[in-house]
Amino acid sequence: MTELTPRLAAIQKKLAVLADAAKYDASCSSSGAQRKRDPNGMGNSEGMGICHSYAPDGRCISLLKILLTNFCIYDCKFCINRISSNVQRAKFTPEEVIWLTLEFYRRNYIEGLFLSSGIIESSDATMELLIRVARGLREQHKFNGYIHLKVVAGASQELIEEAGKWADRISANIEMPVQPDLDLLAPAKTIDAATKAMAQIANKVIETKDNLKHFKSTPKFAPAGQTTQMIVGATSSPDAEILKTSQELYNKFSLKRVYYSAYSPIPNADALLPAEKPSLVRENRLYQADWLLRYYGFTANELVNDKNPNLALDIDPKTSWALGHRESFPVDVNKSPKAALLRIPGVGVKNVERILQLRQFHKITLLDLQKMHITISRAKYFVITADHNPNIWLLDSESLDARLKPKAVQLSLFDQPAQDTSVKLPYVAAAV
Ligand code: SF4
Repeated sequence: MTELTPRLAAIQKKLAVLADAAKYDASCSSSGAQRKRDPNGMGNSEGMGICHSYAPDGRCISLLKILLTNFCIYDCKFCINRISSNVQRAKFTPEEVIWLTLEFYRRNYIEGLFLSSGIIESSDATMELLIRVARGLREQHKFNGYIHLKVVAGASQELIEEAGKWADRISANIEMPVQPDLDLLAPAKTIDAATKAMAQIANKVIETKDNLKHFKSTPKFAPAGQTTQMIVGATSSPDAEILKTSQELYNKFSLKRVYYSAYSPIPNADALLPAEKPSLVRENRLYQADWLLRYYGFTANELVNDKNPNLALDIDPKTSWALGHRESFPVDVNKSPKAALLRIPGVGVKNVERILQLRQFHKITLLDLQKMHITISRAKYFVITADHNPNIWLLDSESLDARLKPKAVQLSLFDQPAQDTSVKLPYVAAAV
């Protein structure tokens, strides 16, 4: 084996520290990138639909996901890189990150870069370093691969605009659903500062789209949009607070995604933090509920509210809602409007479109639904077809609950699954 030069050995050492430090941020996914291939450049993220990510439990992405540095002047209690942490520290130069990205890219290891950072000196000074990386890749190296840059908390509007000029996606992390949670664990941060950055990004995206209609030469701005991340289970905030905040963020700032990251216990953690890792089933249920908000016409308040502040862990949120709203079923797939079809457990958005198409030509039967790969064992209790009427009223709530809920699984919010099913759950399980 060839021996590494001292420079390469030093970079490798930093990489080990800064890639490990970045794994706590779940807010990267590169779906939606549309950067076209430049014949004189390198890389192509157009239409790749890259959608990889990894959290501490090892879910995989094919972006180079690193921090520029894990030094930080802030002391967010949930973060392993907080100033009071005794974790090993390292700092890349922008040139080193550029070199690493290009080398990984040439070897086909990655399709792009996700770059975040601890805050050094000031928010603007850190943001400038992140921008130097993205700008250097694009301008000097004609890099057309995917770039996701983190917006540093408190960075100026000019720098946020500059970041969006070079990156496909930018993200400002809100971290917690409500200000009291931040006051408790990250007193230097505010929801207002995060949402102000999101508003600036959203406005610039709209402005750029408008300008593009008139001037084709308008510079791009974060064409893959913005995302954010919320940490789940580090405070006692219930799912109702989390989903209410997500809904507001989607409505106000057109976010592409809110990522939910189950709090990962860190070494020498503050006593305010839970000692145990929250169940990843909760994280998964939040992703399912999030899909219902974005694609199925549900509101947060329908799924969780003062009476039921947390999502059920033993059943998906859509089926749970259906069981609590028997009066809305059965839905006649041959007559009901799209909004009602979207609420049928086991029927996804694409299948709703197929049903709407097919019923123009003939009466839909159970076999038709089966051919669409709809989970009949679940859907049959909630639909009327040409050859089936479930007579749902004959099924008392207990017997229907028993049929639809998995047997002998009683999970509490902070239980770990008996077997390690958490890692086998799809990252974003279909919320149908
Ligand atoms: S500002 Fe970011 S890196 Fe620094 S302690 Fe807070 S969460 Fe961690």
